[in-house]
Amino acid sequence: MLLEGKVAIVTGGTRGIGLSIVKSFLAEGAKVALCGSREETVTKALDAIKAENPMAPVLGYWPDLTSNEAVSAMVNSVVETWGTLDVMVNNAGISQSTPLLDYTPEEFQRAMDLNVTAVFNGCQAAARIMAPKGTGVILNTSSMVSIYGQKSGVGYPTSKFAVNGLTKSLARELAPQGVRVNAVAPGVTSTDMVAALPEAVVQRISMGIAMGRPGEPQEVADAFVYLASDKASYVTGVVLSVDGGALF
Ligand code: NAD
Repeated sequence: MLLEGKVAIVTGGTRGIGLSIVKSFLAEGAKVALCGSREETVTKALDAIKAENPMAPVLGYWPDLTSNEAVSAMVNSVVETWGTLDVMVNNAGISQSTPLLDYTPEEFQRAMDLNVTAVFNGCQAAARIMAPKGTGVILNTSSMVSIYGQKSGVGYPTSKFAVNGLTKSLARELAPQGVRVNAVAPGVTSTDMVAALPEAVVQRISMGIAMGRPGEPQEVADAFVYLASDKASYVTGVVLSVDGGALF
């Protein structure tokens, strides 16, 4: 098992890519605290995991990720429960598609708050635990839009470019303290959001992908497992594309 005995936190772990990361980490022997936005969705995710494996070492939290204090308190609670933190996955995020002229400042700010400030909060709280012990892994969920941009909804790619900046900069800052920092940049992935699209739209999107289909959450989660594991012991500061060869 690649993550035997590791303690991990996964934000946005109640569904989609995050839930696949949680399940994959558990399957590889990790203990996992998952975070969602509401108690109700967190409980639902925990119930689904426990239905498959009643003994699964999994906890649930629903902190306000945009609050530095709330994220610190959640990380400290995990450390009090399981003694340490080895892997922090800052995965929660929202996308946007609003054309520029229809944007409100509040909508733009929402993308910055959850997709950037919350990632900063998670990185900082994790580093407070990992740097003093000289080991740990921080993983952030970026997006292929951080490489290509997108036609509308500029807040989303802007926030994901920032995630890449956080990742590459913190990789340099924290390497001397034994902490690796990487990002995964998924392409179009079959989460609830994509599953709700009409088949014709999925086909049109797929024409821009070399492999001709959207990715599965499990295929993205596998990249997180690799980067979280000691198999990636010499990998830091990368933004790993998992996008089927996107050609946008
Ligand atoms: P999803 O909408 O299925 O899940 C989002 C998760 O984030 C949920 O667990 C939700 O509880 C959490 N979340 C949302 N708003 C929150 C808030 N305000 N506070 C706390 N938690 C909140 O999304 P997904 O498709 O699984 O996306 C996960 C990550 O992957 C995001 O960062 C997204 O930008 C990125 N991504 C997704 C795709 C895709 O095609 N699905 C592509 C590239 C990148």
